[in-house]
Amino acid sequence: MSPTYSRQHAAALAELLRLIRPSWDALATINALHDVADRPLADVARAAILTAQDHDARTPRAITFTDSDHWRSLTADARPQPVRRTEQCPRHEGGTAGRCPMCRSEQIAHTTTEETP
Ligand SMILES: [Zn+2]
Repeated sequence: MSPTYSRQHAAALAELLRLIRPSWDALATINALHDVADRPLADVARAAILTAQDHDARTPRAITFTDSDHWRSLTADARPQPVRRTEQCPRHEGGTAGRCPMCRSEQIAHTTTEETP
């Protein structure tokens, strides 16, 4: 597959990673990032940062171990989902999930009931 980012971008990311892991060799870090350049840059950046934070990963070569937990944690379910503001309350028609006034009044009513002996 063709690379999704250039070697120059890999160098920029390597610079950031070496702030997290100063012991990592600059060239080795760039080479490791270059080796996984067929993957989306955002995934590489996140996996690489997780790898840099993992002290069991002794060298930047560990970035290329795409079957590691760091890469596995990037599965669709683990990705942060953008907040959908238009999502409906699952229980009340016309309510917005998370900010539903009907849910809120139910909560208040429930709390009041609990407080009453
Ligand atoms: Zn509701």
